[in-house]
Amino acid sequence: MNIRMVEVALLGRIYKQQDIFTYSVPDDFGVEVQPGVWVQVPLGRALVQGCVLAENSSFTGNNIRPIKQVLSSGPVFSHQQLNLALWTSRYFMCPVSQILNIMSRHAPLRKLRLLRLQLSDDNQLSVLIQYWSSTQPSVGRLLEYLKFTGAISRQLLARKFPGVQYEVEQLVLQGIVSEELAYVVPQPLLTAANQAPAALHLSLSQMPVLNGEQQQALLVMENCLTQEKPTPVLLQGITGSGKTELYMRLIEHTIRRQKTALILAPEIVLAEYLFKTIAERFGARAAILHSKLSKNKLKVTHEKLAAGDIDILIGARSAVFAPLPRLGLVVLDEEHSASYKQDVSPRYHCREVAQKKADLNSALLVLGSATPSLETWWKAQQGEFRHVRLTARVECRPLPKVQFVDLREELRTGYGNILSRKLNDKLKHALDKQQQAILFVNRRGFASIVTCKYCGEVIRCRYCSMPLTYHRSKEVLQCHWCGWRSRKPQVCPQCSETGLLYRGYGTERVVSELSERFPQSKILRIDTDAVEDSDADQWSSTILEEDFDILVGTQMIAKGLNLPRVTLVGILNADIGLQQPDFRAAENTFQTTTQVIGRAGRGNLEGDVVIQSYHPGHYALLAAAHHRTDDFYQAEIHFRKEHGYPPFLEIVRLVFSGPSDDRVRAGSEVFERYVKMNAEIHSLEDDSQTSILGPAPAPLHLLRGNYRWQLILTSSSLEKIRSILDRTFPIYAKQKITGVQIAVDVQPMNML
Ligand code: ADP
Ligand code: ZN
Repeated sequence: MNIRMVEVALLGRIYKQQDIFTYSVPDDFGVEVQPGVWVQVPLGRALVQGCVLAENSSFTGNNIRPIKQVLSSGPVFSHQQLNLALWTSRYFMCPVSQILNIMSRHAPLRKLRLLRLQLSDDNQLSVLIQYWSSTQPSVGRLLEYLKFTGAISRQLLARKFPGVQYEVEQLVLQGIVSEELAYVVPQPLLTAANQAPAALHLSLSQMPVLNGEQQQALLVMENCLTQEKPTPVLLQGITGSGKTELYMRLIEHTIRRQKTALILAPEIVLAEYLFKTIAERFGARAAILHSKLSKNKLKVTHEKLAAGDIDILIGARSAVFAPLPRLGLVVLDEEHSASYKQDVSPRYHCREVAQKKADLNSALLVLGSATPSLETWWKAQQGEFRHVRLTARVECRPLPKVQFVDLREELRTGYGNILSRKLNDKLKHALDKQQQAILFVNRRGFASIVTCKYCGEVIRCRYCSMPLTYHRSKEVLQCHWCGWRSRKPQVCPQCSETGLLYRGYGTERVVSELSERFPQSKILRIDTDAVEDSDADQWSSTILEEDFDILVGTQMIAKGLNLPRVTLVGILNADIGLQQPDFRAAENTFQTTTQVIGRAGRGNLEGDVVIQSYHPGHYALLAAAHHRTDDFYQAEIHFRKEHGYPPFLEIVRLVFSGPSDDRVRAGSEVFERYVKMNAEIHSLEDDSQTSILGPAPAPLHLLRGNYRWQLILTSSSLEKIRSILDRTFPIYAKQKITGVQIAVDVQPMNML
């Protein structure tokens, strides 16, 4: 006899390093079991939830176990969603169960308590129905109903068959019906492909007339939009060139073609901000989705998704996994941002997933940035992406004038203040004229290092050995790597002397200094600490209302914001990023500096920028200051090619970690032996090279109480590295090395 078998992916769980298992399908389930359906399956001694992926007729293992229950009425995930999940899992070497988990959080599911008829013997059932029909007819009718439908939800039961509560509990106790939890997927999500969208009502009041360059760019992109398989577009436009306006024109075009648009931003504050801009024009058919959304707002978005009432979904990173039928356009704003890469498992890069998603849906992908990532820029150079450029600001506004302050010179002349004399004067001038200023500080907190005056000890995190940052508002020392906090000590923990020094500065200190110098001014601070304490929606409103004189912030304010009254921008210490042990240090500094400079002079008044730096001659800073973007890319691509970095080579980073340094080191060495072996075998099969660097202690050797060692694999082909690792993991697993975790980071953005 032929047993029907299917592959089931666990939801958010891994069992013995695996998350896809094969189960048999009992005859009574039949067609209910199809890809995308949620089921309950036995795993060891437990029952767990999973999602059916595909039929598997070739499975030959023995003692295959049957699916226990079907939990959803119909598939929860469409074919495309499943494809995307599997592709992401393969590409980034992360568990598919984790991707499905994210997808299920974004899916507007309704939970139902179902009563299911368990009695399959028709004769017995007839007897039972006869008995109840004569003693209590409503129970008889219920059983008739169940005989026909198989199951009923608790809610429907209460409405259709009132007053049978007690008898139903009896039936449950006797095992005639069973109670189970089920999920219901709103139909529009799966069938909306054929549904006609609502009429488009645009608010035209704020629609500017496009300038020549914008029109040209739009024309090219609209052409791409109508291709059967649209070529992805890199929209490289300088800050203030009107990219957002073009996104909106493309959205309009997309909706007119009866399709939907997904708009992604790297940061939650930015997503909220974009949402407000877009919703102002497109009204209620725009919705927002990100992981920090309040319960109520998430419900609104889910209800709209469920009803098929969304034409535009705006979100942060994980929204790329949201279900959106009829997808026609995917936009990644500020595509170069490292926040698009998730730093913890599953370590996917939103840009790559977005490209795949667009591809699966034959939708147009638009990557927008003033400072594209080198990888994207290179693909555009190679013709893989269509390169569309905006080289001028709207209404012919000039780019801001940039001046450097050499901090070494300031020190030499005995002026060691946070604000140089030049920046101080300009700030005063701007405030006198009722203009706004932005000060960019690359660190949060008050003091970035606390040391003892007597013994010289730097106070460090117990779990990461990184210096702790002093936060004055909360009177704590905090680790910016793991979040560990301790109360501010009165004496040095090492020598018990009183004489702690607070050195270096962050946003908090800058605000405190400013409020002393400019007591009349309204100062607003935006960094993760400030945002943590209230919601992102409120922050984006405060920013949009422009209710401040001086805005002090970190990375979070560098990108995307369009504040026409800001004339002065100060970068307090432009060098911090340059010292990172990361091949992207120059790229990151160039991007951040360009972005921050770009916040100035976006209205009718000209912008003015002061950069304070100890290395004012660095090529990344000079290129940003003089708006010489192309020069920077040429120089940087040369550097990458020469040293074998992306985009010329693919990188996979393996981080081994655990509480015992020796063990972790030993584990990484064992792994290295096998990986080398496999790489050699592989290189006999084709002639592409794979290099293996390490094992070496990771730059952050101790993090969250775990010691870390790293191994870096580079090759011209990611597929090749994957297949080497695929062979290595099972052999390594056989060694049964305990106390060592391995994190695989494909195309890592963070090299610490
Ligand atoms: P970018 O995203 O490229 O930095 P934005 O799209 O935020 O720039 O545009 C900056 C400002 O210019 C916005 O207020 C926008 O409404 C306005 N704008 C865009 N296009 C035009 C145009 N053609 N004429 C006048 N103003 C425009
Ligand atoms: Zn720590």
